Amino acid sequence: MSENCLFCKIVAGDIPSAKVYEDEVCVAFNDISPQAPTHVLIIPRKHIDSLDKAEKTDKETLGHLLFTAAEIAREKGFAADGYRTVINTNSDGGQTVFHLHVHLLGGRLFVFPPG
Ligand code: 5GP
Ligand code: ZN
Repeated sequence: MSENCLFCKIVAGDIPSAKVYEDEVCVAFNDISPQAPTHVLIIPRKHIDSLDKAEKTDKETLGHLLFTAAEIAREKGFAADGYRTVINTNSDGGQTVFHLHVHLLGGRLFVFPPG
């Protein structure tokens, strides 16, 4: 756990969240400011600042986050229609919370490239 990290506090249960899934590696919860009918954040229990700070030993965790996003998309019923997964990294990437997270957005049409 990293001091003063919002998402570490969510993992610890010190800040409430609407959890949709959790296991030994990750926690998934609804984004507080949803940008689509479904907007879930999937985060590792372990604090990693950003994709930029992920290490070789984090490779399995990175795969786990993406696989979990796919599982949640299937479970929510929009996998066949399609969805968007996003990892914002550092300032140009639009990252605002520095605990690595995958956005899973579904339930509407997305355009590419995103802004
Ligand atoms: P980023 O911009 O770093 O890629 O994404 C951070 C996301 O965290 C944003 O979509 C924002 O709405 C969400 N967020 C920020 N604070 C909270 C919070 O306290 N609870 C939840 N559930 N989501 C949050
Ligand atoms: Zn953290």
